[in-house]
Amino acid sequence: MNKRKKPNYKLRRDIAKAMLVVIILIPILIINKTKIFNFPLYISNIKYSGIIDSLFEANYKYSEAKNTLNYLKENKKISDDTKDYILKLNSKGYNKTTIDYLLRNLSDGELTEFLSKKYNKDYEEYIKLDLFDYSKFDRYLTYQKENKNLSIDDIVTRIELNLDKTYYEDSIEIKNPNDITILTNKYLEIPDDYEPKDLVDMSDDYANNMYGQLRLRKEAYEKFVEMCNASREDGVKFYAESAYRSYNHQNIIYKNYVHENGQEKADKYAAKPGFSEHELGLAIDLANIWTITTKGEEYAWLSKNAHKYGYIIRYKEEWEDITGYAAESWHIRYVGVETATKVRNKNIPYEEYYIKYIANKKKTNK
Ligand SMILES: [Zn+2]
Repeated sequence: MNKRKKPNYKLRRDIAKAMLVVIILIPILIINKTKIFNFPLYISNIKYSGIIDSLFEANYKYSEAKNTLNYLKENKKISDDTKDYILKLNSKGYNKTTIDYLLRNLSDGELTEFLSKKYNKDYEEYIKLDLFDYSKFDRYLTYQKENKNLSIDDIVTRIELNLDKTYYEDSIEIKNPNDITILTNKYLEIPDDYEPKDLVDMSDDYANNMYGQLRLRKEAYEKFVEMCNASREDGVKFYAESAYRSYNHQNIIYKNYVHENGQEKADKYAAKPGFSEHELGLAIDLANIWTITTKGEEYAWLSKNAHKYGYIIRYKEEWEDITGYAAESWHIRYVGVETATKVRNKNIPYEEYYIKYIANKKKTNK
């Protein structure tokens, strides 16, 4: 018997149903492709799906969106407006790096304020920098207007050094004057009562003790002796003409300078008491009968070798607007071999090195 095969209606129905589901689903998939592709993120954060949507809208990648959301959750930085902030920043034209910085670091009030400003491409450059600090934003912009030739990196560095403030006016007291890498200048004050505990007398072989016994911190002195011996082997001789100065000693020098040359000149060439590296017991003024000049063989030798003994030439002509001092070819500062080598290789003022590579590291390690 030829048994005719009955059509399988059940199978047909199932296929039809499946096709219907696909036809309905495809447009949903296309419209909501972010949600589908990033299903696990949405599932685990159903409450925040609006924020996740806006992060993807701002071109965040999956892992970036996840990190940022977790950061905001952990640091309790999510408000009813978070989604709007992201969308508005994005529509203003800010990139995701900028948006991310602002979300993580600004309060709701600051975000609202930031959104009231016109889009400025420079903001994105500012925000990228390690030293960027939103609370100093207005100072950056003012300084930038007054110093149009500076790069944005320079502006942020200089504001971090308070160079937009008046010398000595808003000075900050340094907390660890014993640290051999500590920075002092016209904005960073040494505590009045600080006296290094490890000062040693310098030998007549390496110092002019005619006007009083010169002293230096032990480590700096030992390295100075090594350096003098090495230079003498090369036929170059210099010695210390001035080294450690107490607050009172510096006070006398400064007052004499003001008396003889007037306030303005004094502030350019001499340090006020509390602001001189000599008070740290880590600075030396050199001489070789006469003062050391940039043209002399001593200066050439020091430029090439001082870092090997932990010393840097501290005040160069091209750095005057950062250091706040006219060039001093005779003044060297001990910072340790490692730091001196890095400073010398970068050929930047110690202010810049300190703020970028020493202070900033301490800040981010906290
Ligand atoms: Zn000096």
